[in-house]
Amino acid sequence: MKNNFDINTLVRENVLKMKPYSSARDEFEGFDTTKMIFLDANENPYQTGVNRYPDPQQSSVKTVLAKQRNLQTNQILLGNGSDEVLDLLFRAFCEPKVDNIITLPPTYGMYGVLANINAVENREVLLSNDFQPEIEAILYAVDNDTKMIFLCSPNNPTGNSFSDKSIVTILQNFKGLVVIDEAYIDFSQKQSWLNELDEYPNLIITQTLSKAYGLAGIRLGICYASSEVISVLNKIKPPYNVNELTQKRALERLADKEKIQFEINSITIQREDLLKVLNEVKFVSKIYPTEANFVLIKVDDATKRYDELIAKGIVIRNRTTQALCENTLRLTIGTAEENKKLIDALFAIS
Ligand SMILES: *Cc1c(COP(=O)(O)O)cnc(C)c1O
Repeated sequence: MKNNFDINTLVRENVLKMKPYSSARDEFEGFDTTKMIFLDANENPYQTGVNRYPDPQQSSVKTVLAKQRNLQTNQILLGNGSDEVLDLLFRAFCEPKVDNIITLPPTYGMYGVLANINAVENREVLLSNDFQPEIEAILYAVDNDTKMIFLCSPNNPTGNSFSDKSIVTILQNFKGLVVIDEAYIDFSQKQSWLNELDEYPNLIITQTLSKAYGLAGIRLGICYASSEVISVLNKIKPPYNVNELTQKRALERLADKEKIQFEINSITIQREDLLKVLNEVKFVSKIYPTEANFVLIKVDDATKRYDELIAKGIVIRNRTTQALCENTLRLTIGTAEENKKLIDALFAIS
């Protein structure tokens, strides 16, 4: 696999032929720019703190991430949320109306939405009843035009992560790209797949600062892959896709590792407390195992319970229309105070 993997066979022909757009700022990467006079990008010269275009390669943020994750900066691409990163993957590798992808419902809705937007067929292979990938069915669904398989682990909305064995089997047997979405990895005891990047050239990992890192509002998504995959994505990304304010805030937050870990620990403790109490709520018939900052539960009547909680001012997510999720609700772990109010409300409506 390692030796005969050629990324160029997967890239769309138009992308393969393209030269990347060179923005004004790209051309002076590596220079000591502090003493230079920039009259090249039609910016307003007076300081506002953000009167200059941002670094198109976000070098400072990537340097910190690379150090923390023990990777090279050329194995990282940043985007305006994971959503942009995922969209770039479609645009780089999937020929509209020709290629297809495989997703494993119930899972994150954006894969299907992006497939639709990009006119790419989404082959859905349901998870098993315990929400694990059905390996045989997945490999059976693959054909010569299958470019990507999306594995969300820990999975949204189910909360569990996929077994190592099934992920390895897919990585070893599928010749296209395997995208593992690790939006919730920081809440799990499991190791990230980042350590396997060198082993599998077809592995792509997405993470985000929106969940454990507490920065959903700045929109910063991360793609980790081989430098070959990253350079394809760099070719097509909008030059200034991550704005200056986002880069600044991300740097500040990434420097505060202890605070982030403290919050993750608190959320995990709250999660375990909530799970215990949920056991005592009469209309809850099942609590699904979770390694994320939310829990999926099965209830007697999801829509009724959802409405009752709304009436009490508590908003959760009704997942009843999702495959294998009939009468389920997804509850995000809040602060201790918020969870207490949720619990009180659950008992009040029982
Ligand atoms: C929340 C979430 C994301 C995050 O998306 P952003 O665009 O980075 O905010 C990605 N994947 C999954 C599965 C999610 O649940």
